[in-house]
Amino acid sequence: MRKVFHFDSPADPYIADAAVLCCFDHRISTAVRKFLKKQGIERADMIVVAGGAKTLASPRNDFEQDFILEQVRMSIRLHQTKRVMVMSHSDCATYGGLAHFKGDCEAEADHHRSELLRAGELLTSNFPNISVEPYFVKFDGIWEVKGAQHLLSAPQGKLADSTRQIA
Ligand SMILES: [Zn+2]
Repeated sequence: MRKVFHFDSPADPYIADAAVLCCFDHRISTAVRKFLKKQGIERADMIVVAGGAKTLASPRNDFEQDFILEQVRMSIRLHQTKRVMVMSHSDCATYGGLAHFKGDCEAEADHHRSELLRAGELLTSNFPNISVEPYFVKFDGIWEVKGAQHLLSAPQGKLADSTRQIA
């Protein structure tokens, strides 16, 4: 092999501050990176795939969902991850963009909120000891999903009721 770039990376093993599932859309990447820094998350296991949280909430096929769950499982096993952030974003092409919602930002946000909660509940049901934080990334910033408190402590059961209390 021939070295084509020099850079000194930290070689020590690490405990991940969080695993982060988000879309690969370049338009949101800077906001996500700055948000993580603001949250004090320095070591994140980034799971960056088309659609982000959609791969769990509304996967195109079983393979997609299983693959992402396995990525989270590996982050937990290899890097002792306790915190998982799941994100989706406005105008995401995997949902047909904002156009799919006929330009209605509120309808879009409503839909994403239920998607994010579903993704979170799938994670807490698979991994009871993690806390999950769902976020919707818009072009003016990052929004936390109300009604997602049950995902933080990951209690089992009665998820369906609290899902209805989203605001
Ligand atoms: Zn996207």
